[in-house]
Amino acid sequence: MTELKVQGSGGYIIADLTDEQAKKADLGVGKLFLAPIGKIETEKMFKYFCKECDTEFNNPPKIQLEENPNEEVADNLILVERGQYTCEKCSATIGEYRVFKKTDESGEIGKANPSE
Ligand SMILES: [Zn+2]
Repeated sequence: MTELKVQGSGGYIIADLTDEQAKKADLGVGKLFLAPIGKIETEKMFKYFCKECDTEFNNPPKIQLEENPNEEVADNLILVERGQYTCEKCSATIGEYRVFKKTDESGEIGKANPSE
């Protein structure tokens, strides 16, 4: 089990990430970031740090869900779920995640032909 520190806008989360998640989170600047990963399951998060409280908590943050926004962010790419990891004490946002879905799984983003 690996404990990785993943940065968010309002603190960080210590989580057990899969190799795939860790790769997504690594933006090449020597830190891991929450936003590109997608959702991390609660049981995979061990601790979090809240900047507002200036405290590290020995439990996972809360997850606030906004389900099915169904926002089209690009051709063939739909935002299907958006959520925030929030501090259980002060409710500040620790970080955010987004889950995307391709509308046409066979097509590449931005290269799909108009369906006429
Ligand atoms: Zn807090």
